[in-house]
Amino acid sequence: CGIVGYIGDKNVYPILIKGLQRLEYRGYDSAGIAIYNSDLKTYKKKGKVSDLETFVADKDITGHVGIGHTRWATHGEPNDVNAHPHTSMHGNFVLVHNGIIENYAELKKDLTGKGYVFQTETDTEVLVNLIEYFYSLDEVDNAELAVRLALSKVVGAYGIVVLCKNEKHRIIAARLGSPLVIGIGQGEYFLASDASPIVEYTDSVIYMNDGDVAVIEKNSLTLKTVDNDPANFKVTKVDLSI
Ligand code: GLU
Repeated sequence: CGIVGYIGDKNVYPILIKGLQRLEYRGYDSAGIAIYNSDLKTYKKKGKVSDLETFVADKDITGHVGIGHTRWATHGEPNDVNAHPHTSMHGNFVLVHNGIIENYAELKKDLTGKGYVFQTETDTEVLVNLIEYFYSLDEVDNAELAVRLALSKVVGAYGIVVLCKNEKHRIIAARLGSPLVIGIGQGEYFLASDASPIVEYTDSVIYMNDGDVAVIEKNSLTLKTVDNDPANFKVTKVDLSI
């Protein structure tokens, strides 16, 4: 339903929480965040963003890279484990997802045959494990390639933002049929499913196109297609009247 993300030098937690609050108007049943510090930490809860805040009050939420999500359940009841972010079985990837993976049952069956075990009934957990499966192949040596290979197998709609445990300086985002906006700052980038969480930091944005994948570091942004061709994009000024 709602997505936020940040990479830069600021403390990420307040950016994620404020961003999720800005997206509350869309309606949701649960909320969660993942933050890099020494490790990749994920906190998620059924209920309101304020319930998530209470839950993390005594947790380690320091870090400068992170993602957040408000979920509107389509596959799997609203509860703590089904909330996003979802983590892959071996812990290499954490992902938030808007939309529906239509062929998730078939993909889940293939992955189960390869030894993957699932904790939830969600379509999203299938996608994060599919990414991890490609990452485990000898010929795949980076997260971006694993994400693109996984997306080439997906039928459905998605806006996703992905963190890889082994690539702490990087965020990968992709969309097909579900909006994602990149906010451009000074030595920092913002991500969100609409511009409302971004506008207080920057008015310079890129509305991602369908089928595109963004690889974002604090001082660099690359946009390409799922097939690894350069993507067309334009930097625009947020129009607050829409
Ligand atoms: N299909 C996913 C789920 O049910 C994502 C739903 C959403 O867009 O929030 O978890």
